[in-house]
Amino acid sequence: VSPSAPAPASTDGTADIHAAGAALAERLPGPLQALGHAAYDLRWSWQQGGEDAFRRLDPDRWAAAGRNPVRFLRDLPPDVLERGAAGAPVRTAPGPTEPAALDTRVAFFCAEFALHAALRLYSGGLGVLAGDICKEASDLGVPLLAVGLLYRQGFFQQRLDVWGRQHEYWVPLDTASLPLVRVRDADGDALVVTLELRGRTVAAAVWRTDVGRVPLYLLDTDLPDNHPIDRWITARLYVSDRSTRLAQYGVLGIGGMRALRAMGLEPDVVHLNEGHAALAPLEMTRAGQRDVPFSAALRAAGERTVFTTHTPVPAGNETYKPEEVRSVLGDYPAQLGLEPEAFLDLGRARRRRSEPFGMTVLGLRASGWANGVSARHGAVARRMWKGLYGVPAARVPIRHVTNGVHLPTWLRPPLRELLDGYLGAGWTARAAEPDTWAAVERIPDAELWAVRCRLRADLVTYVRDRSVRDRLGRGEPDAYVAAAADSFDPGVLTLGFARRVATYKRLRLLTLDPPRALAMLEGARPVQLLVAGKAHPADEEAKGVLQHLFGLKNAPHVANRVAFLEDYDLDMAAVLTGGCDIWVNLPRPPLEASGTSGMKSALNGGLNLSVLDGWWPEAYDGENGWALPGDVDEGDPAQQDARDAAAFYALMENEIVPLYYERDAAGLPSRWLRRVRRALQTVGPAFAATRMVTTYRDEGYRL
Ligand SMILES: *Cc1c(COP(=O)(O)O)cnc(C)c1O
Repeated sequence: VSPSAPAPASTDGTADIHAAGAALAERLPGPLQALGHAAYDLRWSWQQGGEDAFRRLDPDRWAAAGRNPVRFLRDLPPDVLERGAAGAPVRTAPGPTEPAALDTRVAFFCAEFALHAALRLYSGGLGVLAGDICKEASDLGVPLLAVGLLYRQGFFQQRLDVWGRQHEYWVPLDTASLPLVRVRDADGDALVVTLELRGRTVAAAVWRTDVGRVPLYLLDTDLPDNHPIDRWITARLYVSDRSTRLAQYGVLGIGGMRALRAMGLEPDVVHLNEGHAALAPLEMTRAGQRDVPFSAALRAAGERTVFTTHTPVPAGNETYKPEEVRSVLGDYPAQLGLEPEAFLDLGRARRRRSEPFGMTVLGLRASGWANGVSARHGAVARRMWKGLYGVPAARVPIRHVTNGVHLPTWLRPPLRELLDGYLGAGWTARAAEPDTWAAVERIPDAELWAVRCRLRADLVTYVRDRSVRDRLGRGEPDAYVAAAADSFDPGVLTLGFARRVATYKRLRLLTLDPPRALAMLEGARPVQLLVAGKAHPADEEAKGVLQHLFGLKNAPHVANRVAFLEDYDLDMAAVLTGGCDIWVNLPRPPLEASGTSGMKSALNGGLNLSVLDGWWPEAYDGENGWALPGDVDEGDPAQQDARDAAAFYALMENEIVPLYYERDAAGLPSRWLRRVRRALQTVGPAFAATRMVTTYRDEGYRL
């Protein structure tokens, strides 16, 4: 799409994106106009050289604009633009987006999408996975479109106070300076879809952003004509209020399907990424019902529906009481031709009146193809849901597609450049083939170590900067602030533990034995530890874990060897998973469905030290990291925690610390680097998103 091409006539937002790009391009000098269009397609963010095309115009303003190209270009003063236009042409300009074929379409529904730190429409792993799937589908040319919600205040941002108490705050998204456009209908009016919720007609606008070839449609109820209570439906991701939450799922599933229909996009396959969107197949059923009975129409919709379950943790499999369902969804069952109880039964595993209405049960029941997100999680899900299918676990039709991560997003540039030099041109397109990674063997120790040291040094710079700001912001004592400024050491073995602070992730294990932990920090061969993560605002137990961690900050060496980094997000995840030497994961088995941050770490030459849960049993081969037992212990959780913490410290003391500090005649940790190579070669091909998305394409979508 060149700036002068006529806008295609469409009602799917293509013309609207084009017009927004053209309007931005218009204020740029000729040589830079392509950037105006590129700004409205997130593809720049994972293309090599994509970010540089913007940043080179003014690196400071680029950072100040939060690396958001729409805001950046809009606010650049004329003299900077002229200098940029006169400067050397960018080597790799972000490419145009070809419209994807519109004949077969997969509609991918999810409550959250993590695509850019400024677009705070995500909370954690589920959103990152959804974002990575969109990007990979774009790279592979899988005809996917995505549907989600535009949370006007996004997800909360985190601050901690001096006592380690978490405070949440929300910052409204500035839609005008993000790569977002309102979709217009054929008459040029802003498209609005409606549905009945809580006894009122709720209108939802449809926004679009482009993820390469994948358009992402986002519904938004913050419209002046809506009741004030309904304007709040899409205010915040994962609100605690149950009625608002269920209303969100109505907007996502029912409203999302109606929006697609209004845009003339009838999907052939609907992929429900977790239960939040499980009402979508019912809406397909309603639309396709005409002269067929409900059950036959549901079966037909199910043949087009793929469902992915993401967690065995009960809080992640939401259920609602019958009166909650009635009060939010009103007469929707009648619109499906169902009695209220028959509708509720769709969300009950055993169709018992005592059972609540479960979103996961509904999703499983309404889909013809279902999966968990690792081999182990598949088995856990089969046991967990066997009551729904009425067959032994082994015959439950839930398979697994192990998660993966989008390589161009998560590979840090220094490692990417190193691999480009050894793995051959265009290697990322062959990333799912083990042979592609064989050449990692040929990378000399010195080069590999230099890149690992560079990534760690970048991380240390980042940590010093962030933790000085965090500590000053909290009003910490001077000495504690000063310790952040110059103490983290680019040569010291660096551990990372960054993930949602949920009880089952067991951050607590790290501080279960304070004397042993402190000895590790201050030893002759020291260790430094970086921790980050948000606790759900309503999760008091998890918040207590953060406070407990903070309680240790006055112990010797903690100030200069341990940092808690506030407000974990996509950008921080990239720096941490890139630079840490050891990526720690200590979930209580079998509650980690997959986990993906460890994959990001391994792809950058980090080594995982993880409980054998989620993805790790599939990846761990004895030489590419370290493992803690993953057996399910039905006994006392406190005893299990004590045992696992002891095993963690024993591995650190006996194997990991000595190996990291062991140097050969050339001054290099050659035995450590052998493991790094092994991690790249094993995790690279098996856990790149290419493998995951081709599996969904071939087996789930059957394209
Ligand atoms: C990758 C990622 C996650 C997922 O981490 P796991 O705990 O390993 O599942 C969560 N949040 C962010 C910001 C991420 O980038």
